[in-house]
Amino acid sequence: MKFKLIYPKWAKLSRQTEFHLPPHGPVVFAATLPDNIDIDFIDENLETIDFDDDVDFVGISMMLTVQVKRGWEIADNYRKRGIKVIFGGIATMLHAEETMEHADSVFLGEAEGRMAQVLSDFNHDRLQPCYDFLSERPDIDLVGAARRDILNRKLYNFKGVQMVDLVHASRGCRFNCYPCAVSYLGGRVFRPRPIDKAVAEIAGIDNNRLFIVDNSLAQDTKWEMDLFREMIPLKKNWCSHPIEDNPEVLDLAAQAGAWYVYQAVFDTSDYIKERIKRYHDHGIGVEGTILLGLDSHTEDSIKRLIDFLLEIELDLAEFTVLTPFPHTKAYDELNKNNRILSRDWDDFSADRVVFQPKNMSSQKLQELLDYAWNTFYQDEPQRIKMARLFKQVVKKEMENNTFRPRDRSLTGQSFGKPVNRENAR
Ligand code: SF4
Repeated sequence: MKFKLIYPKWAKLSRQTEFHLPPHGPVVFAATLPDNIDIDFIDENLETIDFDDDVDFVGISMMLTVQVKRGWEIADNYRKRGIKVIFGGIATMLHAEETMEHADSVFLGEAEGRMAQVLSDFNHDRLQPCYDFLSERPDIDLVGAARRDILNRKLYNFKGVQMVDLVHASRGCRFNCYPCAVSYLGGRVFRPRPIDKAVAEIAGIDNNRLFIVDNSLAQDTKWEMDLFREMIPLKKNWCSHPIEDNPEVLDLAAQAGAWYVYQAVFDTSDYIKERIKRYHDHGIGVEGTILLGLDSHTEDSIKRLIDFLLEIELDLAEFTVLTPFPHTKAYDELNKNNRILSRDWDDFSADRVVFQPKNMSSQKLQELLDYAWNTFYQDEPQRIKMARLFKQVVKKEMENNTFRPRDRSLTGQSFGKPVNRENAR
């Protein structure tokens, strides 16, 4: 069977850095398909879809809310040609009902152990409109190594430097933060993969630089320390979401190659200041993820927060505005109070204000987003700060003899920009 797996494009943001990371959802999904399926993967951010090619079944994988309208358009096009389309991925789960209007089938939940049934239904012309496994999570042991072989790897480079590869060692999260949909998507249960399997997958990736995309590594101290211990001999360098704030854990993380973390900075407390310092003391960089527009925010408090970020010497900062993605507490609350101003999912890019803030106009919050980017990067532009982080990783690689020079034959590739996530870590 020829299965075309498509990752829809989305409009790029003006403020983010110029590169595309290889997508993770499609390669994890591809690992759940039987070996006899011939997968043709298209990342539409980098390649053009040929709607006339010979294909039996189309899968559309959507991670972001800003992908859904384009995903629906692609599906409508194929279905007009008589080709069946199934949707999956995070944004499909967040927008299931609307997506069903454009699909032969939607798959909700995690696909491990389930695709043989779906494909059998397809082959017998009895595809179900919805496979809802959201509340029945598969055994985490079933998660296999992602199928990175379906990617056109030459596309994922920036000026000849290979992009990080994405990998996950766990699913779920114990927490339920206000703007985040992870508890709806994965349940409030932390589900670590067996360490030997996760480490074997990491070891097998032909790339020294990784992004460990787990929601938060700070969930289970013993598991986290065991994972880092096993990773030390691999000599990889990696970025991740938060690491537990514990000197022993941070020490092991550094030995295991922790390069930098994405850390939410939500206030100007001494705790945050010291947390950032502890990362730095262990040689781990910090990219702050800063969400603006909470009900506690005023114009003054946002300006104070930006000053604070400069004081604590964050290596990088990414600013977004609160965005009420469906199935979050933020959505429920703002919707109940009629504070959501747009239902156009293309506006839900996290850099456009789509709700009525409590202490200012939506326009003022939009201006403050610009103020935040401009002020933080005023004295030292983003590309200089990024170059400094990059030099750190090159230095580590030189020390352990894993450095690979850039491939100049790839420098003509086109570049895009990475994206916001549907949660706020
Ligand atoms: S923001 Fe992070 S820590 Fe909070 S619920 Fe989401 S994934 Fe978990």
